[in-house]
Amino acid sequence: MITAVLPTYARIDLEFERGEGCWLVTTDGRRFLDFTGGIAVNVLGHAHPYLAEKLAEQAQKLWHTSNIFRIPGGEKLADRLKAATFADTMFFTNSGAEALECAIKMARKYQYASGHPEKNHIITFEGAFHGRTLATIAAGGNAKYLEGFGPQMPGFVQVPFGDLDAVKAALTPETGAILVEPVQGEGGVRVPPAGFLKGLRALCDEKGLLLVLDEVQSGVGRTGKLFAHEWAGITPDIMAVAKGIGGGFPMGACLATEEAAKGMTLGTHGSTYGGNPLAMAVGNAVLDVVLAEGFLDHVNAMSNRLVQRLAELKDRHPSVIAEVRGQGLLVGLKANVPAGDLILAMREEGLLAPGASDNVVRLLPPLNVSEDEVGLAVDKIEAACKRIEDGLGASPVKGAAE
Ligand SMILES: *Cc1c(COP(=O)(O)O)cnc(C)c1O
Repeated sequence: MITAVLPTYARIDLEFERGEGCWLVTTDGRRFLDFTGGIAVNVLGHAHPYLAEKLAEQAQKLWHTSNIFRIPGGEKLADRLKAATFADTMFFTNSGAEALECAIKMARKYQYASGHPEKNHIITFEGAFHGRTLATIAAGGNAKYLEGFGPQMPGFVQVPFGDLDAVKAALTPETGAILVEPVQGEGGVRVPPAGFLKGLRALCDEKGLLLVLDEVQSGVGRTGKLFAHEWAGITPDIMAVAKGIGGGFPMGACLATEEAAKGMTLGTHGSTYGGNPLAMAVGNAVLDVVLAEGFLDHVNAMSNRLVQRLAELKDRHPSVIAEVRGQGLLVGLKANVPAGDLILAMREEGLLAPGASDNVVRLLPPLNVSEDEVGLAVDKIEAACKRIEDGLGASPVKGAAE
């Protein structure tokens, strides 16, 4: 018999009662170190006191009105994100896929408004992930996610990730934009070769195309800059953001330059919940912390520490760990054993982490993770490596006693 919750996920049999920073506590009192971070969402960990306070404060006053009225928290958040980024304007959403939907509509509408309605094709990349709506599965191009959901939305052309020549070869008179993750997350924490994003930017400028970045996973401090494209020294025309921007509250945003947004006039887009007062209160609170002096320095320091210690682990356990990669605290361990085995062994040691394509285990700690927690996580990964090497395999998931 079908489960009451649609069975689209292979859920791990753990039930959590509460979280505290980097830790999750199960209903039966076991504590796990959480490097899942809600899949790069919980940038400030669980139950961050300041976020909880700001959410509760807003909850006492006003949850939802409608976008037919002004929303002061949204205007404030937009002004702050505008000041901190390339953007002149933005649309708030509830999720990453919706931010991408807005970005795709905006890119098409820009070319239409520029007198090029034929330029409605967008170049995307193999291994990409942009969400699970009809448009975003077409953009992502993953056959597994597309199968059976036809007709596939037209207008997306895929080329190998990191291959500038392949992008050039794929250009046609119909090309209107290029959509790319600065670091592929779900695709296996794949960092493109140096110069790739700069090359895309130059190509877009030369050909009148829009550069659309999907920073849903890489944004909001995750890579050690507020947004990952800052490392490449470029700015996009349009950028989709979500996950970390709400610190666990469902929200997203589509940011754009004034020029790129020129077609998005009155009545061209909308959302019932997008930018509602609760989300905006939390979004502003997340920014208060992430933009504070020294916060990103901490992310980079923790990243250096984690990556250095993982590199040592790789040298000690080459039969388990093939490669350490990523940027900031978006870290991937490419495994030499099935990544699922390593994830399970880590869980047996009390450390939670998600997988990704390309046989990768992702490490996505909260950005305010402490040096001790980083050290503890690496110790647990080492214990997991030994467990695999010893062929101990599956003992019951324990987690430390509380
Ligand atoms: C998670 C993710 C999305 C989709 O976000 P949802 O909130 O699940 O719709 C899109 N792009 C990237 C890069 C992501 O990591």
